[in-house]
Amino acid sequence: MSAETVCKACGEEFDTRHNGCPVCGTGGTDVYRPFKPPFVYDVHGQLINDSEGDRVLDMRGWGRLTGRGSRAAGFSDELGAAIQDRIGRRVVELMNADAKRIEEEAEEA
Ligand SMILES: [Zn+2]
Repeated sequence: MSAETVCKACGEEFDTRHNGCPVCGTGGTDVYRPFKPPFVYDVHGQLINDSEGDRVLDMRGWGRLTGRGSRAAGFSDELGAAIQDRIGRRVVELMNADAKRIEEEAEEA
């Protein structure tokens, strides 16, 4: 038996037995949808892409890292980029571990 409902976020009709809206993921546990893991950190753009090259996140905080104001760290561009890279790689690790956990839980269900 199916139970249709309309997604409050995108308006798509879907079967409530799905893990949230199959179009935008609203109501489900797959928070990355429609982006596709595994995610990759791009050191040239300080950004995070999905497995198809679609941009998911940009690293920010350049002014905080390299600026000269009272709240700025005043790091060199090289050090600022290294810090962005370190954080970006960590975020990718966490996102990929989370996406893997979501996939495993979906397989067990
Ligand atoms: Zn939707």
